[in-house]
Amino acid sequence: MGVPTLGCHCAVCESTDPRDNRTRPSVLLSYEGHNVVIDTTPDFRYQAMRAHIDRLDAVIYTHAHADPILGLDDIRPFNLKQRGVVPIYASAETLATLQVQFSYVFKEALPESTVPGVELHEINGPFDLFGLKITPIPAMHGSQPVLGFRFGKAAYLTDFSRVPESSKALLAGLDDFILDALRYVPHPTHSNVEQSLALVREVKPKRAWFTHICHDLGHSDANSRLPKNVRLAYDGLAIEVQV
Ligand SMILES: [Zn+2]
Ligand SMILES: [Zn+2]
Repeated sequence: MGVPTLGCHCAVCESTDPRDNRTRPSVLLSYEGHNVVIDTTPDFRYQAMRAHIDRLDAVIYTHAHADPILGLDDIRPFNLKQRGVVPIYASAETLATLQVQFSYVFKEALPESTVPGVELHEINGPFDLFGLKITPIPAMHGSQPVLGFRFGKAAYLTDFSRVPESSKALLAGLDDFILDALRYVPHPTHSNVEQSLALVREVKPKRAWFTHICHDLGHSDANSRLPKNVRLAYDGLAIEVQV
């Protein structure tokens, strides 16, 4: 829902620490002149301006809930500037949902106004994106399958409640692991702080970054309770990754 959460006046929502302002989770992979985003949130336009993105080369989706997809319409300026479609990579299930949620994009009749120009690519295993190998990490988000992604020595896994053993093997040897930790209290479809710490102990990354954090966690207070190699991520955080 983002922090501040609409209508809420709790200490975290009213915090003056900029790291307590959280737009919906997404990451930008920038390498060799290419920009690839994982998920287009309802905050995508603002996030893209904040990150000074001048081009967008591809979008990868984790799943098709509202928060990771609703910013798709805002890729249109990149279609116009780049005079072309933006490739989209997602599971078959996510692509099917995208075509329902954004039916106006996929209608055959020519629209009167601009619509996002996309080219759909189904993820069936590791794939190459402009020379970077992206490995999907299947996980469960309640009863819904989702994908995390590994790129070199880093992985991004948001919106999950359970990681199968076969996926834990794909998370071995990471320098940086960015993962869901919604809140302290258990949640039916999200990993909480305790569960995410247990996963970090299992897959042993050098560093872990918690994301998809709700207003139950204040940045500095939560960080003070975590092991030194586990930190809350925050909007605008940039890390260098070995690929
Ligand atoms: Zn609040
Ligand atoms: Zn979700």
